[in-house]
Amino acid sequence: MIGILGGTFDPIHLGHLRLAEEVREALALEQVRFVPAFQPPHRRMPMASAAHRLAMVRQAVQDNPHFMVDTREYTRGGASWMVDTCASLRGEQGERPLVLMMGMDAFNGFTRWRAWEQILGLVHLAIATRPGARAEDEAAELLAERSCPPAQLASAAVGRIVEVPITALDISATHIRELSACGRSTRYLLPKPVQEYLTEHSLY
Ligand code: ATP
Repeated sequence: MIGILGGTFDPIHLGHLRLAEEVREALALEQVRFVPAFQPPHRRMPMASAAHRLAMVRQAVQDNPHFMVDTREYTRGGASWMVDTCASLRGEQGERPLVLMMGMDAFNGFTRWRAWEQILGLVHLAIATRPGARAEDEAAELLAERSCPPAQLASAAVGRIVEVPITALDISATHIRELSACGRSTRYLLPKPVQEYLTEHSLY
């Protein structure tokens, strides 16, 4: 199985990396593909350019043999719809099961994503528990309908949802940007090469 972690990564931080590592381990994924959004459609414009965000993701994943950067949203340009990304990966990977991972905060907005039902016809979802977050409203109903224990994920090709409790790291890119904007330290919240990159390029 292959994991997919989409995000704005403005910037990528240890919360993202730990999410990917713990879900990879829990579900015995062969690989996790980090997919930086060129233009995230459901939020305001990122502060750093797509090229800088992609460069930081490259720096962040370089020392993990299970992690790779997937540049398809960057190359495609325009609004980065996850349904297009999943369809393109499905076309490439054939029958291999794909697992789209996200934090609970992102899952709570999932039924507002473009063509979310189509996404569930292409991939499984893995929801990582993030500090303070739980499934609400339509997301809670969807989870109740499609929930599956991790060990049974491989028995269906697509459309199951697993919850993976992960170590709570209350780190957000928003907080890192705020710290950086007022000249405060961002050390130990993100990988050293990423921290050096954003300082060198005065990104935030
Ligand atoms: P921002 O603060 O700019 O909104 P973010 O830190 O939430 O950004 P995103 O790039 O929007 O990062 O998130 C990509 C994915 O990573 C989402 O699925 C989100 O739920 C998850 N994620 C982000 N931070 C954490 C964290 N600390 N722990 C677990 N998952 C996280």
